[in-house]
Amino acid sequence: AAGAVELPFQAEVQQVLALVINSLYANQEVFLRELISNASDALDKARFLALTREGVAEQAGEPAILITLDDAARTLTIEDNGIGMTRDEVVQNLGTIARSGSLEFLKANAEAAKQKKDGGKLQLIGQFGVGFYAAFMVASRVDVQTRSMLPGAEPVLWRSSGAGSFTVASGDREHPGTKIVLHLKEDAREYTKVWRIKEIIRKYSDFVHFPIKVNDEVANRSAALWTLPKSQITEEQHAEFFRHVTGGYEGENPLLTVHLSIDAPVQFHALLYVPEKAPADMFHKDRRGVRLYAKRVLIVEDCDKLTPMYLRFLRGVVDSEDLSLNVSREMLQENRTLSQIEQQIVKQVLKSLKDLSESDPERYAAFWKEFGRVIKEGATSDWKNKDAIAELCRFESMNTEAGKLISLRDYVAKMPEAQKEIYYVTGLGRHAVEQSPHLEAFRKRGYDVLFLVDPVDEWFVKALNEFDKRRLKSVMHGDVDLGAEPEKKDEPEESVDAAVAAVKAALGDRVKDVRVSRRLTDSASCLVAAEGDPGANLERIMKLIDQN
Ligand code: ADP
Ligand code: MG
Repeated sequence: AAGAVELPFQAEVQQVLALVINSLYANQEVFLRELISNASDALDKARFLALTREGVAEQAGEPAILITLDDAARTLTIEDNGIGMTRDEVVQNLGTIARSGSLEFLKANAEAAKQKKDGGKLQLIGQFGVGFYAAFMVASRVDVQTRSMLPGAEPVLWRSSGAGSFTVASGDREHPGTKIVLHLKEDAREYTKVWRIKEIIRKYSDFVHFPIKVNDEVANRSAALWTLPKSQITEEQHAEFFRHVTGGYEGENPLLTVHLSIDAPVQFHALLYVPEKAPADMFHKDRRGVRLYAKRVLIVEDCDKLTPMYLRFLRGVVDSEDLSLNVSREMLQENRTLSQIEQQIVKQVLKSLKDLSESDPERYAAFWKEFGRVIKEGATSDWKNKDAIAELCRFESMNTEAGKLISLRDYVAKMPEAQKEIYYVTGLGRHAVEQSPHLEAFRKRGYDVLFLVDPVDEWFVKALNEFDKRRLKSVMHGDVDLGAEPEKKDEPEESVDAAVAAVKAALGDRVKDVRVSRRLTDSASCLVAAEGDPGANLERIMKLIDQN
């Protein structure tokens, strides 16, 4: 072809290709999901560009994704009239890896190889989605004919057999968009069968909001699910849509669905899911997975202005009529409409979680196990919703069996009348804190003590400070007031004074003070932190930070 140039793939692409091509992958069919999702993205981008920029080429016909199957020629062709690509974009997009998914895939695969878990590797492709390169799972050659909507863009042809290099040349497309021809491998003939392709579309791409036509017949439902009334959406549809927005964690279902249709002060639809499992990188990265649409047009794929950090596990879609289409990424930073949407989302999600905890405690326990730690972060950052967050928190306590949790609300309900404050002990685990001599006096009085054994708990209680107007107090702190002892013992004061003086002299300035305590019943003495001093756990954490 005219002006053909051969270029090598970036090294990482070659690695992805080698993995994709060589793994006898049971789940080959996801290649179609990847190509459809790219076509759908291209149509979203085309809409956005047409609305926000002057002088771009007119879209030819209604936006659609066309799949043509040719059994005799053994080809599958997928075409969209979306944004298309310029020559530079083709080289960049189809020759290097820009997306994090593929890189994560490589990393996870290296990890699986280390642990000699082959099954693991095969699963992973479906999870991450290796994008465009997945085409080479089923094709021995791929031709891409594309033309950008941008003014003056020339058509381009990209061609590769997936082995080391690709060629770019002048193409022949008249209208903007992209047409991809897969020359299928011998053992991939099933992908020329209409029934098979329709089956895959129903499985992965049913809710893509553009029509997908297979040999001219529409094969997907294509409704924007989030705009439908709640009662019309089945659980199965939610599960499918969840897989669609998360890139298809197969077999996984949403643990909780929050579907909102709000009119004031800002109009928006939100369809949000809490996954059953926390993503592996949840604690390391600020990766938020809510897609932002304005009037059905995709604006940002991973919008971090719709959910606070401590709800970063939410996945789904937000669509607002009140956002202007020409909001740029920069303008999103300061956007008042978005922050109003975020406030509503937070309120409603916290409420839905509370409802879940009441209606289905078992399911809630599963949620807390995966995401409790992240929720607790919320108490330190979201002052406005501190109380709602506190209601969601669960802890072990002196009176629970190991592994069983109670809420602060339960704790307060079970407090004896004489008890005025909420008591907790911090430490490195149930076993460690259970031995604490500090607990004796509380046990004697029938007071329960919360076991805060997660390192973040120390920050959590400091931030929360009180619950239901009752102070949270560490049993290890100096000024815990237990009131009158249940049974008063006679203590000759002078002899105690002498003992205190003797201990003070022996310990010198290794301690701040030595005091007579009413808290111990069986042990002779214990260490306490002065009021205002950091707790023992926090001290440990501070030491660790100091060392780094
Ligand atoms: P991702 O979709 O996650 O970015 P892919 O490997 O699937 O990764 O695609 C790489 C890039 O190639 C896309 O980001 C996009 O810029 C471009 N691309 C792929 N398919 C198309 C298409 N049909 N139309 C326009 N651009 C496309
Ligand atoms: Mg893609």
